[in-house]
Amino acid sequence: MCSHKLETLPYFCASIMQPIQNLFPQLEQPKKVVITMHQKPDADAMGSALGLYHFLVQFGHSVQVISPTNWAAFLNWMPGCKTVLDYESASVEKANTFIREADWIFCLDFNVLSRTKRMEENLVKAGGQRILIDHHREPQTEMFAYGISDTGKSSTSEMVYDFIMASGHQSKINKEIAECLYAGTMTDTGSFRFPSTTASVHHMVAHLKELGLEHSLIHEELFDNFLENRYRFIGNILLNRMEIFYEYNTALIAIPQADLIKYDIRTGDTEGIVNFPLSIKGIKLAAIIIDRGEERKSSFRSKGGFDVNTFARKYFNGGGHFNAAGGFNKEPLEEVVAKFKQAMKENVDQLRSYQF
Ligand code: 5GP
Ligand code: MN
Repeated sequence: MCSHKLETLPYFCASIMQPIQNLFPQLEQPKKVVITMHQKPDADAMGSALGLYHFLVQFGHSVQVISPTNWAAFLNWMPGCKTVLDYESASVEKANTFIREADWIFCLDFNVLSRTKRMEENLVKAGGQRILIDHHREPQTEMFAYGISDTGKSSTSEMVYDFIMASGHQSKINKEIAECLYAGTMTDTGSFRFPSTTASVHHMVAHLKELGLEHSLIHEELFDNFLENRYRFIGNILLNRMEIFYEYNTALIAIPQADLIKYDIRTGDTEGIVNFPLSIKGIKLAAIIIDRGEERKSSFRSKGGFDVNTFARKYFNGGGHFNAAGGFNKEPLEEVVAKFKQAMKENVDQLRSYQF
């Protein structure tokens, strides 16, 4: 609990997150702005951050996007990506100066500040107002002065689009914004496949197309730029590292660090692999646990009524969405695998009750 008196309450103790619309009247007063997102940003995290960047710079704000860590090479085509600072690189001091001096710190595509890893401490200390735009479950709203959290939204990129439209500045949506927001929305909906793909998503894409969006080029940038080694790696893990537990409608891929080294696996190369076992007939829960050295990172995907957000929270220090979540553990890989199998057994009733 925050013990400050109300009149001296600093922003970082604000207990009620104001609606994001309350920012609109301030949009035209130039500010120092930082935009950040979750560690190892995916296309939604990077796309929403850069989409918002290209919007805010048009008002004369000074805007800096900072990523908590590095990101996949297949995101480098995004307009503005070259200006993003990596907090785990030599740019950390520069990034800290931006954070310290910022009036606004937009936090996109994550629900808890710990998702920014080493940046968390300085984000908490910062004097500027933190602003949340996110679609994950159970957000830490007490840490934000303004914000919007909507688990019904397909992606944070869609939410940035909504933010721009609601602000009354839709004429500022240019090609750069369209490309960034399309990339985030398309990937977070599994190419417009998941149930989160609402009519509003299709309306948004139609609008972006009217503005000149060339969507097939973006699919090529994101999905047709992998190196051969990634496919040799996938072949190896599907053959040697995948276990199927048909009696639990569950599949698990556990990847030792030696495999990552052998195939020269880089950030982003493992993204999407969890969907291979999920596409096996009968599989309701798919998991991938990767030994990244410093920690064991897991990804969970489910179909239908199995809630992986709760599952990731309960056993793997994580969270996310109902059908897609992740977590991390400090224990050795074998222990995390054992934990997973135990968790699977504890959830047997739910896993077996799945109707095909
Ligand atoms: P992925 O499996 O693609 O890494 O993540 C799936 C979803 O779960 C994403 O929306 C991601 O933001 C969220 N997620 C992944 N790892 C974690 C984690 O360690 N903690 C929390 N709270 N969410 C996570
Ligand atoms: Mn997202």
